[in-house]
Amino acid sequence: MSASPGEGPQSRPAAAGYAIELRAISKSFGPVQANKDIDLAVPRGTIHGIIGENGAGKSTLMSILYGFYRPDSGEILINGQRVAITDSQSAIRAGIGMVFQHFKLVQNFTVLENIILGAEDGALLRPSLSRARGELKRLAAEYELQVDPDALIEELSVGHQQRVEILKALYRQADILILDEPTGVLTPAEADHLFRILRGLRDEGKTIILITHKLREIMEVTDNVSVMRRGEMVASVRTAETSPTELAELMVGRKVLLQVPKAPAQPGAPVLEIRGLSMTDRDGVERLRNVDLTIRRGEIVGLAGVSGNGQTQLLEILGGYSEPGAKLSGEIRVNGTALPLAGPGANGRARRAASIGHVPEDRQREGLIMDFAAWEDTAFGYQDAPEFSRGALMDHKAMQSDATGKIARFDVRPPNPELAAKNFSGGNQQKLVVAREIERNPDLLLVGQPTRGVDIGAIEFIHKRIVELRDRGSAILLVSVELDEIRSLSDRIAVMFDGRIMGERLPAETSSADLGCLMAGIIPSDPIEVPA
Ligand code: ADP
Ligand code: MG
Repeated sequence: MSASPGEGPQSRPAAAGYAIELRAISKSFGPVQANKDIDLAVPRGTIHGIIGENGAGKSTLMSILYGFYRPDSGEILINGQRVAITDSQSAIRAGIGMVFQHFKLVQNFTVLENIILGAEDGALLRPSLSRARGELKRLAAEYELQVDPDALIEELSVGHQQRVEILKALYRQADILILDEPTGVLTPAEADHLFRILRGLRDEGKTIILITHKLREIMEVTDNVSVMRRGEMVASVRTAETSPTELAELMVGRKVLLQVPKAPAQPGAPVLEIRGLSMTDRDGVERLRNVDLTIRRGEIVGLAGVSGNGQTQLLEILGGYSEPGAKLSGEIRVNGTALPLAGPGANGRARRAASIGHVPEDRQREGLIMDFAAWEDTAFGYQDAPEFSRGALMDHKAMQSDATGKIARFDVRPPNPELAAKNFSGGNQQKLVVAREIERNPDLLLVGQPTRGVDIGAIEFIHKRIVELRDRGSAILLVSVELDEIRSLSDRIAVMFDGRIMGERLPAETSSADLGCLMAGIIPSDPIEVPA
């Protein structure tokens, strides 16, 4: 298949127009063929998206382009010239810069030191520092990439560390910039800023490859997009001539519902009632301020907000994972019964006994024991349940057969209950947690970032299961930093900012701009009436 955007297989494009051409690149890791016979052509001065599910081979392909891996076969042309990229030094010489998914900065060095690291001869370090400082200042001003050159990396936010990575590439005069999943670690505002920078770089004539699994980002910022699936390049198209639905289908290899079909909510009696909940952490920082929130049977309430505004603390208190040493006040009722805020009656076990299920935000730290087998993890927290006990002992056989059923019903791949949790992909790990929590039909389900790092087929699946649970009469509190997810799944949206609920909205009666205001702590005029 021709991978040049808009070109038929018969019309061989003039190579001069392409910053990058990959021809028939293949790469295997043992039995896994990560890249199969890949062609890719990226016109100079464009932003080119590469999209695909986890494990599709995106990072491998880019690591080949950056000289981090050697391909088993195939060739690379930069600006029409065949080049041998044998290591990252030769990639840098060919004008390629890469911003990795996990930054490669030295934490206890300054910004300036990191930027010149490896770019200059050590002996010349002193005289070049002031020159580098001047150049850094110029680049930072030109591309809106302000950072303090003397700050230590460890003092910078993730968004600023990413700026340093970009500056580092520009300092080395990269003409081609590759960014691997750059927005996974950014807030929506930081992501918007990054996209402005990328457009600016493109308009200067630079060529940018953006790897992401987020369709919205592809539609928003790229000129062309290539889709990978299971190690193969399955399509390359102009962004203006495709749609999120078509891209999702190409990625997954079947039709995918981007919007969860759901009937209007039929809210019943209140399940969760939070009144005047405040929390001050052990460092004296007020994390929750007088939170009031009610969730009824049969409704999904989405809690929107930029991460770090108290959502995590709220979920943890409700789920029984409150941090030690915190000061709490206020009231939480579930099904009319007040729950203790602290002490042994407020731990995870007590919360589960109160019919609260919890899909934690950080599945690897709180949701799963990564070294345990899948069958142990799907019973984790519920090992005392009658169906898993035989007298005073745990009934491993019962747990294993329960896990086998969950794995089949949730399409966990590979379907092997003996495999340790750490050996499943992110999406399949999440399915294990979701299966465990949802199948107990809790009266209240807490769901934190259910689809973070999860690929699109699994997102669709998890969303459907959440809606089904709602329709069986559970109350659901969904916390997500993905506004699209909040909007498509919630029956009602509450927005958190600085530990407060800034306002509530009905999805059909609000806009992203309206929600964005609340997320930034601004109350727009005319609040919408929320039915009691
Ligand atoms: P993506 O970036 O699209 O998520 P990757 O390129 O990281 O995908 O991975 C593609 C496939 O290659 C996966 O099956 C992955 O497990 C495998 N893979 C990637 N890097 C290595 C490696 N260093 N050793 C073994 N297998 C690898
Ligand atoms: Mg990757």
